Formats: sequence, structure tokens, C-alpha cells
Amino acid sequence: MKIITSISDMHKVSLVLKREGRTIGFVPTMGALHKGHVTLIDKAKRENNKVVLSIFVNPIQFAPGEDYHSYPRDKERDEIMASQSGVDILFLPSADEMYPDGYETFVNVEGITELLCGKFRHGHFKGVATVVLKLFNIVMPDRAYFGEKDYQQMLVIKRMVNDLNLNIDIVSMPTIREEDGLAMSSRNTYLDSGERVSAVSLYKALKTSEDMVKNGERDTMKIINEMERIIRSETAAKIDYISICDPDTLKDIKTINGRALAALSVRIGNARLIDNCMLGVK
Ligand code: AMP
Repeated sequence: MKIITSISDMHKVSLVLKREGRTIGFVPTMGALHKGHVTLIDKAKRENNKVVLSIFVNPIQFAPGEDYHSYPRDKERDEIMASQSGVDILFLPSADEMYPDGYETFVNVEGITELLCGKFRHGHFKGVATVVLKLFNIVMPDRAYFGEKDYQQMLVIKRMVNDLNLNIDIVSMPTIREEDGLAMSSRNTYLDSGERVSAVSLYKALKTSEDMVKNGERDTMKIINEMERIIRSETAAKIDYISICDPDTLKDIKTINGRALAALSVRIGNARLIDNCMLGVK
């Protein structure tokens, strides 16, 4: 596995690969790698000649007071995991080179970024869209891989790629979970053992929403009330939002009569956890 830290080196290597006619699959991450990241790498390996994995804890997607400084970082472990997963190129840009003095350009996807997490994390998706476009321009991938765990993020990237006519396929992959259902996340390391138990309530709430829809419930208020009850039974949990919404627009739905997304964000201890599932009605 080749490790590249400079933007110009990454650019040069990608240009050579493209000239040779090879396809590039790209997996952008913030590191502290886990099985969720590995499924994206596996898929990228199956579909491309070369796989580039980036690890960059992007300062501009964290609001003041969020966990930028405490975000888990473990370079050695990540390098081993990336190499064992078959990554060809590990790209580790520095914040100084990504955002040098005088940096002034940002990408703002409107509409969908104002809902769900956008209401609680001001400027977050602007930071995400900006860094992803920068990484796309540096790496020049044919395909880029994103997890459905961060559903809104995936939608924002798809919107940006569409709106800005980028010639990149966005491939999404289902959420990888721990045995008890908790969605894998680098932020799960913030949880102490009691909080880790409480964290399963997100999954339980989503499962309940699925079961209620399967059993014929269509009224989203009733489903959300039940999800809320499950989460509130964990004293450590503070709900940011629970939403049942249109999977394309993220606007709240009153009655389910097609596809619907159940999405929630809950703070447990120092961790802000998100999760979602698709509720289908044919
Ligand atoms: P992160 O390092 O948390 O920014 O995530 C990098 C990529 O991995 C994003 O596309 C995430 O959606 C994806 N990802 C994170 N957790 C999971 C998971 N549990 N299952 C599948 N994909 C995930």
C-alpha cells in the first residue's frame, strides 16, 4: 500500500492511473476505521482497478464546541487495517494544505441540508460538501463509496454530484451493525459501558418502527411517539430528532403510503449518534 500525504503527489498518481486507463474507486473517511469502512473498501475493490482511501478529520465540518479535537485518531492502527483490507493508496492530507491561509471557497447544497442533522449542526454539510468536492478533484475517482448510516450526507453528495455535473458514480452501502444492532461508528468509542447499553435503544426504536409499519400502521405520529418512548426509557439518552420523512426530500411525512425513511439522532454521554432505516410500503 502506498501512503501519500501531499495533494500534488496524490493528483499526479491519479493522473498516471487515468492515463493508463485504470479505474479508481474512492472511499473518503475520517479514520478510526471499523467494519463499516471495510465494506466500502471491499465494494470499491470489486468494482475498480485501484482503491484510494482517504483519512482526513475535516475541521470545517465541525462547529465550535463539537468534537473535532477529541475525534478518535489512530494512524498506526488505521494504516494496518487499510493495508489488510487491500487499499492500494492511502491518502492522508494535512489540514494546513487542505485549508491554507486565505482559503475562502465553500460548497453549499441548499434545501436538504437544512433538515434533520442540519438543524443541529450548523455549517456541517457545507464543510462536508466542500471537503468531498476537494477530495474528488484531487483523487479524480470513477466511483466513490458512501455509507447509508450517514443517509443525509450521502444524499447531499449525490445532490452535489448531480447539480455540479461531476462525472463520478456515487455508490451507497447498507449500514454495518454490531451484534446487538448498534450501528458501527467511530464515535461509539466515546461510550462508557452503561452508555453502550443505552445506545442500543436507537436500533430498538428503528426496529419498532419497521414492525409497526409491517403490522399496518401508517400514522407517523403514532410511530414516532413509540420510538420516542423507547429512547426516553434510557435516562442517559437525549433526543435531537426523530423523523419519518421522504427519502428524497427529507421532508416530514404524516401518512406512510410509499417509501419512507425513519431517521434519528440521539446524544448519549459525549456521543451524538445517528441511525436510520427505510420503511417500505408497496
Ligand atoms: P466516517 O469516517 O465516519 O466519516 O465515515 C466514512 C464513510 O463510512 C461514510 O461514507 C460513512 O457513511 C461510512 N460508514 C460509517 N459507519 C458505517 C457503518 N456502520 N456502515 C456502513 N458505512 C459506514
